[in-house]
Amino acid sequence: MNPYRLPNTSRPSHYQIVLHPDLPAATFTGTETITITVAEASDELILNAVELELDAASLGDRILSVSYEPDTERIHLSDGAPIPAGEHTLAIVFRGILNDKLHGFYRSTFEDKDGQEHVIATTQFEATDARRAFPCWDEPEYKAVFSIRLIVDEDLLAISNGREIGRRPRGDGTVEVTFSDTPTMSTYLVAFVVGPFEETGPVEAAGVPLRVIHRAGQERLASFALEAGAHYLQWLSDYYGIPYQGDKLDLLAIPDFAFGAMENLGAVTFRDSALLVDPDTASDGELQRVSEVIAHELAHMWFGDYVTMKWWNGIWLNEAFATFMEMVAQDDWKPEWKTWLGFAPARSASMALDALGSTRPVEFEVVAPHEADEMFDLLTYQKGSSLVRMLQQFLGEGTFREGVKTYLESHAFANTETGDLWAALERASGAPVGSIMDSWIFTGGHPLVKVDVGGNAISLSQRRFQFDQSVNDDLWEIPLRIAYGTADGIRHVNEVMTGPDTTIDVGEKVDWVLANAGGHGYYRTAYSPALLDNLLARLDDLDPLERYGLVDDAWANVIAGDVSIGDYLELLTCFRRETEHAIWEMIVTSLGQIYHTFDQPIDGYVRDLISPAMGRLGWVPTGGEDGLTRRLRGLLFTALGRYGQDQGVRDVAASLVPKLTDRSMDPEVAKAVITVTASAGIADYDSFFLKYRDAETPQEKMRYLHALPLFPDPALADTTFSMAIDERIKSQDGPFVIGRLIGNKDVQRVVLDRFLGEWDTIVSTFPPMLIRRTLGLLWTASRYAPDIHAFFDGKTVKHAEKALAQQLENLDAMTTLRARAAADLAAYLG
Ligand SMILES: [Zn+2]
Repeated sequence: MNPYRLPNTSRPSHYQIVLHPDLPAATFTGTETITITVAEASDELILNAVELELDAASLGDRILSVSYEPDTERIHLSDGAPIPAGEHTLAIVFRGILNDKLHGFYRSTFEDKDGQEHVIATTQFEATDARRAFPCWDEPEYKAVFSIRLIVDEDLLAISNGREIGRRPRGDGTVEVTFSDTPTMSTYLVAFVVGPFEETGPVEAAGVPLRVIHRAGQERLASFALEAGAHYLQWLSDYYGIPYQGDKLDLLAIPDFAFGAMENLGAVTFRDSALLVDPDTASDGELQRVSEVIAHELAHMWFGDYVTMKWWNGIWLNEAFATFMEMVAQDDWKPEWKTWLGFAPARSASMALDALGSTRPVEFEVVAPHEADEMFDLLTYQKGSSLVRMLQQFLGEGTFREGVKTYLESHAFANTETGDLWAALERASGAPVGSIMDSWIFTGGHPLVKVDVGGNAISLSQRRFQFDQSVNDDLWEIPLRIAYGTADGIRHVNEVMTGPDTTIDVGEKVDWVLANAGGHGYYRTAYSPALLDNLLARLDDLDPLERYGLVDDAWANVIAGDVSIGDYLELLTCFRRETEHAIWEMIVTSLGQIYHTFDQPIDGYVRDLISPAMGRLGWVPTGGEDGLTRRLRGLLFTALGRYGQDQGVRDVAASLVPKLTDRSMDPEVAKAVITVTASAGIADYDSFFLKYRDAETPQEKMRYLHALPLFPDPALADTTFSMAIDERIKSQDGPFVIGRLIGNKDVQRVVLDRFLGEWDTIVSTFPPMLIRRTLGLLWTASRYAPDIHAFFDGKTVKHAEKALAQQLENLDAMTTLRARAAADLAAYLG
C-alpha cells in the first residue's frame, strides 16, 4: 500500500469553496463544503492538506477532529464513531499562507512603470499542490465539480475556471465574486488569480468568449495571443470533433511563474514571455514560441482536462500528446514555420539525455508526489511526443486521428491508463500498437540501427544506443520506414523490426539505403562507410529532416566513440550549401559542444565552414525574405561571432549596438548582436542590464537576460550570479541564469567555485522544481569534472535527484570524449 495514496473508500463529487486572500499579509482563510460519497463504512476520512491549519471540520452535525500526517501530506478526520456508507456533506474551515515558492496558492509581486510595487495571488497546482490551497482529494482520479467564490478588494480583478456569474459588495471595500460551476475535473486543474490585472475585450472562439488577462500597459502585447488562441481553440475542437467544455477561456500572463504555462481549464496561466509578444518587433522564433505554448495548453483542454490520467505515472502521455498536438496544430496554421523540422533539435536533446545509462523509461512507477515533479523533463515532452509522432506516421494521420477521437469520447470526464489510448488506436488501425509502444515507453534509451547492403539484401541490426557503450540485450519493436535506391529509382518499404537483426531481400540490386526515411523515427542509424558516402553524394534528393538525421546521428556516434571527430568535421563540409535553419542549428550545437569540451581552438574551422553561407545571406535581410531565412542569418552570425571569433562579424555587431533601440532593426540580427557583443566583451554590461530591467516586451527582456551571463569578465559574472541569488533577477529566471553562467567558458572556474560553495543557498532560495535548471550546462565543465564529482557524489537533491545523476553522467560522457578525441581533433585541424 502506497502511504501517499488516498484509500479509495470515499469520493468527492462537488466542492463549494470560498477563499479570502489577504495579499499584504500573504495569508488566506477559506471555507469549503464538500459533497462526498462513502463507499463503505469507516472510522475516518482521509484527504490531502499541507501547510494548512484546519480550524473546524464537521460531517453533517458531527464535529470531527483533525490529525495531521505531514510526511505524506494527508489529514485524518474522525470523531471516533463509524461514518456510514452513503452521501455526506463535509464542511471545513481553514487558513493558509500565500507562499513565495511558485506553487500552491502563492504570492508574487511586480513593479509598474513608475517603480511602484503591486502584489498578486495566483495558483499552480500541478502536480500535487491544490492541497496547499484547500483540503481535498488531491489525486487526478478524484474528479469533481468546483463552485468557487473569492473575496477580494473591489479594485482587484479575480479570475477562476468558470465565468464570473455574481458579484456582491460586502460593505468593507471587498466583494464576493462567484464563478460558474466547472465541468467535472481534477483538483490540479483548479485555478484562482487575484490582482491589479486588466483584461482585453473578449473575442469569440469555439462558441465561448476568449480574453487575455495582463498587467496595465501590456494590452498591445496581447493581440497575437488572442489571434492564436482563437484559432487553436476552434481548430482543436474541429480536430477532436468534441466541443470545448468550459464556458469561457482566459489566458493569463503571470509575473512570476515556474513553468512555461499551465492548462487550468478555462483559466490557463503563462509566464509573460510565453504569452505576451509584440508582433512588430518579435522574431519569428519568438512568435513561434508563444504560438506553440498556447497550442499546447489548449490541446490539454481535451487531452488532460476532459480525459485525464489516473495517476502521475501517466503524466508523460498527457504532456507528450499535448506537445505532439501543438505541432500538428501549428504546422497546419503556419506551414511556413516548418514546425516538424524545427522540432528536430529538441528531439536531439532528448535523445542525448536518453543515451545515458541514467536515463529512465518514459513511463515509470510514481510513488511519492515529488517524484511526479521530476517527470517534467525532456523525456516526457520531447521523447514522448517524438514517439507519438513516430506512431502517427506509422499508422497514418487519418487513422491516428480517428483512434484519438474514439479514445476521448469513450473516456469523457473520466480517467485512463496509458494502455487505453493504445487500445483505441489498435481498434482504429488493426496494428499491434500496444506491443510496439510498450517496448518504447517501458524501456529506457533507444536503439541504434546498423545498416549494410549486400547485393539484393538490406541487412539491419539493432542494439541499445548508449554513449558509454554499455552492453545489454534490450530490444525495441521498431516501426522502420526505409527508402532505397535501385537502378530503376527510389523505393520504400515499411517493416516492424522486432529481433536483434533482420535481412530484407528486395529482389533487385540496392545502391543506397536510408533507414529512417522521413526522419520521424526515434532511433539512431549507422551506415557502412560506403553507404554513408552514397547518401552524402545525394543530399539534394533527401528531405530536410533526413539530411538533419545524417548530421545528428553522426555527431551522436562521435560522442559514443564510433565515429572519429575528424570524420565528423569532414562530413560537415558536405553541408556548406545547406539552407535549412534546423540543420544549421544542429551543426552549430555540435560546434558549441566541441568548443566547450576541447582546448584546441576551432575558430578557423568554424569560419571556414560557415562564412560561405553567411556571405550568401549578407548582414541584413533583403525584402521578401522569409522568417526561417532570417533565423538562419541570426544563427550563423552568432556562431561566427562566438565560436568563430570572427573579427568582421564582431566589428559589424559592435557598430550595430547603438541601433538596438531602433524598432526597425531585424529582430534576429538584434538578438545576434546582443549575444555576440556580450560574449566578446565589447558591449557595456550596465547598459545591457538596464535594457533588461526596463525592457518593454518580455522577449526583449529575455534577449538581454540571456546575454548577461555571457560576458567574459569574472567580476561581471560575479555580479550576475549575485543578482540571480538576491532576486534582482526574478526567481523564475535565476536558476536558468546560473546554468548559463556555468556554461561560460571564459569564467567557468570562478563561477563553479561560487556555485559549489553556495549550493545550499541555491537550494533554499529557488523554487524546488527550478533547482535542476542550474545544472543544465554542467557538461561544459569537463575540465573541472573531478571537483564537480567530489562535491556532488553522494549528495541527494530532492526534486532534482534524477536530473543531477543525468547531468553528472553527461559530464562524464564529455570528459571521456575530451580524453579520447583531443589528439584526433588536433590532427584534423592540423
Ligand atoms: Zn502540458
